Amino acid sequence: MKNPRSLIRPLVRSLHAYVPGEQPKIPNLIKLNTNENPYPPSPGVLRAVREAVDERLRLYPDPTAEQLREKLARMHGCRTSQVIIGNGSDELLALAVRAFVEPARLRQTAAARSRATVQYPWPCYSLYPVLAEAHGARARAVPLKENYDLPPVSVLRREGHWDFRAALTFVTTPNAPSGRGYSLSQLDDLCRAQKGVVVLDEAYVDFASANALSLTEKHPHVLIARTFSKAYSLCFQRIGYFIGHEALISALHSIRDSYNVNGLGQVAAQATLNELAHYHRNFCKIIATRERLWRELTGLGFEVLPSQTNFLLCKPPGPTAEEWLSALRDRHVLVRWFRLPELARFLRITVGTDREVNALLKAVRDVIHGTRNENCRFGS
Ligand SMILES: *Cc1c(COP(=O)(O)O)cnc(C)c1O
Repeated sequence: MKNPRSLIRPLVRSLHAYVPGEQPKIPNLIKLNTNENPYPPSPGVLRAVREAVDERLRLYPDPTAEQLREKLARMHGCRTSQVIIGNGSDELLALAVRAFVEPARLRQTAAARSRATVQYPWPCYSLYPVLAEAHGARARAVPLKENYDLPPVSVLRREGHWDFRAALTFVTTPNAPSGRGYSLSQLDDLCRAQKGVVVLDEAYVDFASANALSLTEKHPHVLIARTFSKAYSLCFQRIGYFIGHEALISALHSIRDSYNVNGLGQVAAQATLNELAHYHRNFCKIIATRERLWRELTGLGFEVLPSQTNFLLCKPPGPTAEEWLSALRDRHVLVRWFRLPELARFLRITVGTDREVNALLKAVRDVIHGTRNENCRFGS
């Protein structure tokens, strides 16, 4: 009998899979580690989903999510043919790699290497390298500036690490995990200089002061990625979408699974679009809480980056970030720490409700003042 591992493609055997944030089963834990929205979906959305749970579950859902695409097209002022829905935007990011990037081969010309390249300013959403690797493409991470801003095109040209012919460029904007927003003119300059497809991943854009949707009208090679997960409290339902030129969108349609978007997800997303005012109030609350948390953490000696998202990236004072992670966990607050050299000194903290943020701040003060409890890791 063969070792079943030997039946797996070498590329797949050696993959480094994406590491999602922990979804703990511990009750009463304050969960500020995966950028979920702390507020529930609107009552109308919950009602619509409940009402859709009946004998219809035996039927396939609409394969093209037509009504949802029509609603989104109306909302964004584009044609329905310019919208594709995915099982979360993650699915569409993967489809983009498969549709636009050649797998790499040994000994390629420079032009062929570019056609097999997935590029992104780094650090950013850590799924992109995983998708590139799974496709056998070249992943090209180009460092952001020290303050996590996007280097201008002139600097990218001078330094020579950036590939202006890369088949696919991902830009998380506003960025994760830095929280930094990029200006429309910076993004416009970059898109204009780029020969391959550019995906502007706007997962957090509803918490930002600007968006880059207009670049899809200006540049036929630019796609915008959005999701209902973070801003619209629908992580569980897995609904994301891309907007862009019909030719690129139809290429993605041609390689997706026929029923890639589940029916209850379509129902939930459509109901969400009927109640946008509810969600705008949530955005305002989260932004206000974010700004307060920024001030309070700064006052407690944290170095906190400015944020246009629903999370803050910060360098805690004193012990290492990894020690902070476990000290906060001992106090029932879960935040995110990335085991990467460039991020190891940081914690990423999702903005919760005011109550959750107060509990976090209390835990932070306890750690700083070394309040003894049975699990106390450090302190006086
Ligand atoms: C959360 C997130 C996604 C994935 O969203 P889903 O629609 O839940 O798959 C994509 N990009 C970024 C930057 C994210 O943070």
